[in-house]
Amino acid sequence: MLATIRSATLLGARGRPVTVEVHVGQGLPGFSVVGLPDEVCREARDRVRAALLSSGVAWPTRRVTVNLAPSGMRKGGAGLDLPIAVGLLVAMEVVPAQAVEGLGFVGELGLDGSVRRVTGIVPLGAAIGGGVAVVAPECCREVAMVTSGEVRGAPTLVALIECLRGEQPWPEAPPLAAEAEPTITADLSDVRGQVVARRALAAAAAGGHHLLMIGPPGSGKTMLAQRLPGLLPPLEPEVALETTMIHSAAGVRLPPGGLVHAAPFRAPHHTASAVAMVGGGTTAMRPGEVSCANGGVLFLDELAEFAAPVLDGLREPLEEGVVRVTRARATVEFPARFLLVAAMNPCPCGKGVKPGACECGPTRGQRYLRRVSGPLLDRFDLRLVVDRPAVDELLGGEPGESTATTLVRVRQARALAAARGMRRNADIPAHRLDELAPLSSGAAAILRRELELNRLTGRGLHRVRRVARTLADIDDAGPIIDEGLISMALSLRVEPAAWTQVVAA
Ligand SMILES: [Zn+2]
Repeated sequence: MLATIRSATLLGARGRPVTVEVHVGQGLPGFSVVGLPDEVCREARDRVRAALLSSGVAWPTRRVTVNLAPSGMRKGGAGLDLPIAVGLLVAMEVVPAQAVEGLGFVGELGLDGSVRRVTGIVPLGAAIGGGVAVVAPECCREVAMVTSGEVRGAPTLVALIECLRGEQPWPEAPPLAAEAEPTITADLSDVRGQVVARRALAAAAAGGHHLLMIGPPGSGKTMLAQRLPGLLPPLEPEVALETTMIHSAAGVRLPPGGLVHAAPFRAPHHTASAVAMVGGGTTAMRPGEVSCANGGVLFLDELAEFAAPVLDGLREPLEEGVVRVTRARATVEFPARFLLVAAMNPCPCGKGVKPGACECGPTRGQRYLRRVSGPLLDRFDLRLVVDRPAVDELLGGEPGESTATTLVRVRQARALAAARGMRRNADIPAHRLDELAPLSSGAAAILRRELELNRLTGRGLHRVRRVARTLADIDDAGPIIDEGLISMALSLRVEPAAWTQVVAA
């Protein structure tokens, strides 16, 4: 007897439809799974067998063959346990074949017969498509976001058999959790002083400029970075869905409403491996941190401590907004558009921002700086030195502008960029800078001098002009970039050469 069940498997952050064929026939008793199952998928036999026995269903003493089609695609994970079990139930005539028509199944089975959540349930649910998707009850809400059909929750195999036989009605879907508004816990007003750094944060959020903060330990670099997601508007619907799929596939806990719509903040530790950072892995191709940060912020604290291959892996996503991971049988593409924020000490002792204070000596200091490659440093439109706030600022000073107030200005700047046909000022092509960021004669003179003194490269020049455009938009300062704006943009871009001299001094 043959049964055919619809299901799906995960490939990267996308679900792919899979047809599970179960054949129970003559021959020596045995169980085989064909159609490129991975290790976890092959182990389905033991879980399905135990789950059936726990549910009071006898294991067939015949030859069982499970085929996962299409056969050319690798199938991974435990999500095929449930469709294999249902296929067996149909093939053994425990459940009538017409009961599973139009239904798709995804779920892992516990040895006690319980139906469990699997990683990537959102893309898997999307791959099942129309009809009725049957999943673990706690996954119903997430699958309902992405499917046009119905979603039903099956807590156990026993309950599922009763529903499929028509002996019991399908259980009610669990009540929808109230859609909690994303709460911003870290507010900018908590940061004392740091006027320049706050401005840089607003510019990063408004113009999509990558930001590097150089400063000694305790200067508040992490505190500043954590306040950046609060300055980013909610994700656009398409990005929100894309990011939700990625988080689901990566096993990141989804917010109560199911959909990720606040800008994510990911802060991998400097010991993170290249696979953890960009994605991949030998068995399942999981999205990495760069993709989990899609639409939000990737914060790399202690930038110089990350392994060189890990930092090299950032090149592709920074240039193209995607990561491609190739394994023997497939290439998977993960979206990875994020705002890169990094922090580092100026030198190993951390005191190098103040001339003469460094204890490392020029060799050690420069060797430390060289750990971050020139091309990566060049990616940061905003590079600023952050020092510890002064005692007066910590004790007395007025609280700074709040996140809500700054967000208004960030939105205004983004609207101005959109009106010029640009999503972010960081993307303004060089040949359109004269048109979109025209310079006053004074501003042009300042830039000319910087170029003549070799303090600015051609590429650096474009980046300074883009940042100046964003600074003008934040203040709604009109189309012309004047001296004040250019000077400020220059001060927000400490050249590595200058900063190395500071260390060596
Ligand atoms: Zn030092």
